[in-house]
Order: sequence, then structure tokens, then C-alpha cells
Amino acid sequence: MTEDTIAAFATPLSSAGIGIVRISGENSINIIKKIFVPYKKDTKEFQTYTAHYGFIYDGDKKIDEVIILVMKGPHSYTREDVIEINCHGGILVMKNILELVLKSGARMALPGEFTKRAFLNGRIDLTAAEAVMDLINSQNQYALDNALSNVAGKLNKKIKGLREEIITETAFLECALDDPEHYSLDGYSEKIEVKVKNLIKEIDCLIETFDNGKFVQDGIETIIVGKPNAGKSTLLNCLLGEEKAIVTDIPGTTRDINEQRLVLDGICLNMVDTAGIHDTDDVIESIGVKKSLELIEKADLILYVVDSSKELDENDKEIIDRIKEKNVIVLLNKMDISNNNTQLEKQFENIVSISAKNGEGIDNFINKLNDMFFSGNINFNEDVVISNVRHKNLLVKSKDSLELVLGAIYDGLPEDFYTVDLMDAYNFLGDIIGETFNDDLADNIFSKFCMGK
Ligand code: GDP
Repeated sequence: MTEDTIAAFATPLSSAGIGIVRISGENSINIIKKIFVPYKKDTKEFQTYTAHYGFIYDGDKKIDEVIILVMKGPHSYTREDVIEINCHGGILVMKNILELVLKSGARMALPGEFTKRAFLNGRIDLTAAEAVMDLINSQNQYALDNALSNVAGKLNKKIKGLREEIITETAFLECALDDPEHYSLDGYSEKIEVKVKNLIKEIDCLIETFDNGKFVQDGIETIIVGKPNAGKSTLLNCLLGEEKAIVTDIPGTTRDINEQRLVLDGICLNMVDTAGIHDTDDVIESIGVKKSLELIEKADLILYVVDSSKELDENDKEIIDRIKEKNVIVLLNKMDISNNNTQLEKQFENIVSISAKNGEGIDNFINKLNDMFFSGNINFNEDVVISNVRHKNLLVKSKDSLELVLGAIYDGLPEDFYTVDLMDAYNFLGDIIGETFNDDLADNIFSKFCMGK
């Protein structure tokens, strides 16, 4: 248990109906007793899971009318005594209350410190703590579902299962090496080879989910390219469902690169519209703008918008040369007036006819996205999905250690060679859930949290 009592805003500091100041630690109840005056004499004074209506006072000065929630440890978010002061959501009033709480014996919480305490006090494992941050930052329903299932311990359970298999083997090996009279290692190499291969396969499956997980969590970096007047801005507007980008007949009116995050049927696209950098009809020149090339290089997905009522020209060829090795969806736009760009079929696998103006073909486009990035199955709720690069790197390390075990088996090395690498694999997995954690790791992880969480 940490000794000092911490406090922070738990809701954003902005004008709102309600704001919450949260306090956690041994001294929480004492602090609230100093500053809170109940409306009526309170019979259930500060019992756990009770709410109390009253006023916050700084000496004789009434600060606000509030409801306080009492959650006594260990049945609280941090496992410590937690008080949440539900006050009015004004910036000044919230500041006044927090200052008063700090003056009365708490110290300002660091970012993520409430969750860090929940972890240090053993209420949640590291994957759940990290998932809390993912949950707060979720931009779409799938990211949220994934975060929620990890808060509930899905990843933790999976990792624990893998560790258990490893430790069982290691324990047997150690016993057999110590006590060869009672435990025989005859034929053990073959058995452990199968087991290690299975473990590697399971870890590989988890690693493979990472790209999906990353796209779910962070969105697909998407760039829209195409000649002036192809309909790029119209497409963006159509997808956004509102008139956020400038749509114009005159090429090159959208001056700045326009970035929008949008969610299509649960698929999150971070969209860059390059319409603005095509100042001239010379697309080669405009697309040659350094920024644009960098964006093409970095993008996970390129949407190449083509005016299907026009023949392809040199400018299209230049664009095609730039993007043909990338992940591209060709959108044959203006299908309402024409649809004759079959030449592109030879060069691109993914082609969808749309009318950005009428919204036609957009469903097909979304299906195509789902196929490309989520193998047609974005709803992978049943599985554990890795979305955190820290987890992925540790899985890779664990897998590498298991590969070393396989190497030792193939080289016919004695069994005691296996145990070191098995234990490494076990410990790397332990790092994921925070079993073998250190202060630096905790500081690194929790400092990425927002205040008050
Ligand atoms: P951008 O330069 O690529 O951003 O092109 P815009 O989005 O500004 O569109 C250029 C012109 O094409 C505008 O007059 C749009 O109304 C028109 N346009 C865009 N999409 C369609 C479409 O699907 N069908 C038709 N008929 N016109 C379209």
C-alpha cells in the first residue's frame, strides 16, 4: 500500500454539468471530513458505497454544493479508500475544490497514478491497466470492445495459460534432472519438441493479430490521391457525411492538407485528402510535392480516385507508377455518368465503382476495406487481439527463446540446455502481464495515461 493520498480531476476541466475530483489513499476520509458538511446529519457516515449530499467548505466559506461517493478499500478502483466529489463542472469551482483537497493533506496525482495503484495493489494486471488507457482512447466500437475484454482479463488469461504450459515443462525437466531415478527423460526430446512447436504456433497467432489490432486501435492511415476534379473532396465529404472539406469545381482550392479521422462501419480511417496540393493540372508536379510522397510512403492504404468518365492520361500513369506497389483501392468515381476504366483492372486488384456524389457503391468500398484489413471479419471479438506494441515485442522475444529450445533439441544438446530458454520465454510472457515488472516499466507505462485516471 502506498502511503500518501493523491487527488486529481477525474473529468476534463471544462464547463459541464458535473465535474469530479477524485481522492485515493489512507487519508481520503480524513480529508473529506475536514471539508465536507452533509446537508442532514448523516447516519451512514462514510460507509463504503454510499453517496452523501452536502457542501464543500473552505473554513467558513461555502465552495460548492456536491454529492460525494465513498468507496472504501479494498473494494475500490485503487484498493485504497477512494472519495469522488461530484461538484458542478465549472473550471473555477473544480480548481477551488482540488486546491482545497490538496491543502487538506493530499498531493496531486501523477498521470495514470490511480490505475498504477490499482496495479501495484494487485487489483488488476498490467494488460488490464494498459487496456484502461486503450479504453479511454478508443475511437471506434471494435477498439472499445477489445479494450473492454482486456480490462476484463482476456489477454491476461491467455498469457497465463501459455506460461503455465511452459512452467509445467520446466518443472518436470528440473525434477528429472535432479532425480533421474524417479523421472525418466527417455523420449522426452520428441515430446517437448511437439509442445514447444505448439507454443510457438499459439504465440505466432497472437503476433499475427497485431496488424489487425493496430488498425483497430489506431486506425488505418489513408491517403486519397487522384487528378484534379476526380472527385476526391466529394468522396471525403460523402464519407464524412457532412460538408467538412471544400468541394469545388475549380481544381486546387483546398489549400492545406486536410486530415480527418472517420469511422466507417467500425473501421477507422485516418484520412488525408491531398486535393489541395494539386495546384495545377500537372499532377506529376503536384504529386511530386515532397509531403505528398512522404504520405504515400507512410500510408497503410491509398485510395486512388479516378474520374471514370475520362480516359486515363499521362498524369494517371505517373500516379499509378507511384502507388502500384502499395495497398491501393481504386475508386472508379462518377459511375452515375460513366464507367469505362477497365484498363486499371490489369494493374490493381481492388477496384470499386462508386459515385461519390450520390453515395453509390460506398457499401462495396467498405466491404473491400474489411476484406483487405480484417480478412473480411472485423468482428473478431472472440479472439484475443494484440494492439499494444509492447505486448507484441515481448511475444516475439518469447517466441525467439522457444526457437532456441527447438534449436537445442535439433542439435541434440542435453536437456538442461532447454531450461534456461524455457524460463526466458516464461519471463518475457510474464513481462506482458506485469509479473516480473520493475519501476521503470511501470513509470513508462503509466506516464502515458491522462491525469485523474
Ligand atoms: P477533386 O478535385 O478531386 O477534389 O474533385 P471534387 O470533389 O471537387 O469534384 C469535382 C467535380 O466532380 C465536382 O463538380 C463534383 O460535383 C463532381 N463529382 C464528384 N463526384 C461525382 C460523381 O460521383 N458523379 C458526378 N456526376 N460528379 C461528381
